[in-house]
Amino acid sequence: MEYDVLIVGAGLFGLTMAERLVNECGQKVLMIDKRNHLGGNCYSEFDPETGIECHKYGAHLFHTSDERVWEYVNKFTTFTNYVHKVYTTHDGEVYPLPINLGTINQFFHAAYTPDEARVTIAGQAATAPAEPKNLAEQGVSLIGQPLFDAFIKNYTAKQWQTPAEELSPEIIKRLPVRYNYDNRYFNNTHEGLPTDGYEAWFKNLVAACGDRLEVRLETDYFDDPEVQKLRAQGILTVYTGPIDRFYDFQFGELKWRSLNLEKEVLDVDDFQGCPVMNYADLEPRYTRIHEFKHFHPERTLNSAYKDSAYAEKSGKTVIVREYSKTWHQGEEPYYPVNTAEDRATLAKYQALAREDENVIFGGRLGEYAYYDMDKTIAAALDKFDELKKRWS
Ligand code: FAD
Ligand code: UDP
Repeated sequence: MEYDVLIVGAGLFGLTMAERLVNECGQKVLMIDKRNHLGGNCYSEFDPETGIECHKYGAHLFHTSDERVWEYVNKFTTFTNYVHKVYTTHDGEVYPLPINLGTINQFFHAAYTPDEARVTIAGQAATAPAEPKNLAEQGVSLIGQPLFDAFIKNYTAKQWQTPAEELSPEIIKRLPVRYNYDNRYFNNTHEGLPTDGYEAWFKNLVAACGDRLEVRLETDYFDDPEVQKLRAQGILTVYTGPIDRFYDFQFGELKWRSLNLEKEVLDVDDFQGCPVMNYADLEPRYTRIHEFKHFHPERTLNSAYKDSAYAEKSGKTVIVREYSKTWHQGEEPYYPVNTAEDRATLAKYQALAREDENVIFGGRLGEYAYYDMDKTIAAALDKFDELKKRWS
């Protein structure tokens, strides 16, 4: 087949662009990925020993308040009514997250009303500047010094291994702070997990593209001979790999955090009683433990699932301990560190990218952005709207 567009990366950005280019513009698309599966970091697989769906690159919970994105994703999968809840262990005690009235009252051994708690926290946050410029200042301004020291300071130190004074305040603004007992982790209108798993979602999307989309897995943009030919011919390319790698690191590396995800199968029905337990203190060294069976309670509780493809074995569970580590070339880049130095380096790469009309950079790696799934899809839909003008 002759191709109109090459897409590098079959993650959510690449998949969304591919589907739109094929189904809205009738383009013939070749999508490659160096991994052996679709979905990029959102990929999950069913553990053969236990039947439990495990998220291979860290737990992924879908949540959005963007109606356009919600409508788009529902074309390819339905979602369960899962609502994400996270707990944290600090100094031998378990607290609910995000910081809410339950956390505040437990921490201060108090029975504050919402208004009393607001006044107390405002007093403890008074040392923070009016316009916080980094994660440390932002954290104290949101929840005051004592709660920051207990729940954020050491977790952030383990997660980023970068002084909180050098990290963007945006990182901590992701987490809601509530003066009621609502402990939903996210603040969005829509939330859930793909009913049949992430891979089924991505396969449905590819199937919806018919034969105008060809997918080649285990194919690296930088060393596949056929792809090199297409590059030499100047094919229009949507590139969702790391932007600094594309330009041979000529201005230096952008910094990333990587993860060690240590998976263990245990002979118990329930290891921790919740999907995610964070560890707020410097010890243990892991930041959190995921227990995947809690993401799909319907598969455990509903007897209709007993004889289905999603039958989970009783008496077994799968957990993953998540350790953060510094990224080195050859490892998976997960979180952009995004210091002022990184932003200056990124600006140089972006200036080069602007000169090249034939390559569109997108996604978490291509834009060096801490995007959630819905933001990635929204960015792809926006980029597609720009791009389609070329064919109109
Ligand atoms: P990716 O998923 O990284 O896909 C890029 C693809 O490009 C990869 O498959 C890669 O193999 C391929 N590629 C790179 N270089 C090459 C090359 N040279 N040749 C061929 N292929 C190449 N979001 C949420 O909404 N909820 C969550 O709970 C959540 N949890 C997360 C947990 C972790 C640990 C991380 C890191 C992210 C999480 N996210 C979450 C964010 C989510 O993973 C991203 O928004 C999404 O995966 C971004 O999609 P993408 O297509 O930009 O990138
Ligand atoms: N964070 C923290 N303590 C927690 C949870 C989060 O200090 O118990 C901080 C930490 O800096 C983290 C950021 O808040 O990187 C965002 O947390 P989130 O759970 O959204 O991170 P992600 O799921 O993207 O890893």
